[in-house]
Amino acid sequence: MRILSGMRPTSRLHLGNLLGALENWKKFETKDAFFMIADWHALTTEYASHTSIKENVVEVVMDYLAAGLDPDRSTIFLQSLVPEHAELALMLSMITPLSWLERNPTYKDQLREQQGKDLATHGFLGYPVLQAADILLYQADAVPVGEDQLPHLELAREIARRFNHLYRKVFKEAEAILTKTPKIPGTDGRKMSKSYGNTIDLSDSPETVDKKVMQMVTDPARKRREDKGHPEVCPVYFFHTVFNKEHHETVAKECRAAERGCVECKQEMASHLAPFLKPIYERRRALESERNRVQEILIEGSRKAKKVASETLAEAKDAVGIGI
Ligand code: SF4
Repeated sequence: MRILSGMRPTSRLHLGNLLGALENWKKFETKDAFFMIADWHALTTEYASHTSIKENVVEVVMDYLAAGLDPDRSTIFLQSLVPEHAELALMLSMITPLSWLERNPTYKDQLREQQGKDLATHGFLGYPVLQAADILLYQADAVPVGEDQLPHLELAREIARRFNHLYRKVFKEAEAILTKTPKIPGTDGRKMSKSYGNTIDLSDSPETVDKKVMQMVTDPARKRREDKGHPEVCPVYFFHTVFNKEHHETVAKECRAAERGCVECKQEMASHLAPFLKPIYERRRALESERNRVQEILIEGSRKAKKVASETLAEAKDAVGIGI
């Protein structure tokens, strides 16, 4: 089964990216799995601070590798090193009705989330067309997505159908593989996100992780040690359910009965989180002294990706009747 997925190099990756995507991607690693660093997509929101995109590309590849993606089993590539993405996106933009993009529910959500940036641009509105090109170029059978990405995938399927109907059948309609990861909370209890500054990064040292855990917000209603807690609203408890599975029910019971303090609760959670994150951190540290090798992995992966992408693009151009 051919799989395509990717992330934008707008920052280093964090625990939310790891639990929400990377851990899942590893299950699909085969020679038919393509994992992209989506730098064109990064530009749709970061065009005014573009200098950091290039730096973040290598950081994100190191995060992919440290998290356990294996470039010998799957293909890790850079979107802009495969120019076919931009070319197919242009072609698909000719057949995509504006109304399909304007009704995209994540467009308005993103505008709200990315306040302070002028996103009234052609590129930002057309983001799902570029995403459709990413998927269709590889004739992906499936795309691992979170629920919030489902409308984009549906749009890609609609664009493929329209193309196949207008010209001839060239593109596959990729299915969604829905990842059932709940929203990963950040250290302040909101969704873990770079834009909120509440992340635990894969590149954080064990000391930094401990410090961040000890600064996490807890149940806001629990002001004193003797106040009974509500673990279901506490981000520390969420991580107990992930990393301290065997004892999380005890944690919840003791919290509700005010039989445990938040400081000891955080220390216990940190002690379970550390063995999970430490090997990733150590692999990443080792990769930092091998940046040339990391770049080579990306160049080699992009060469492999281009081979597949160029065949699909040639077929699409032939179907449309463009070129000579
Ligand atoms: S005791 Fe633990 S679960 Fe309960 S509020 Fe404090 S940190 Fe959260």
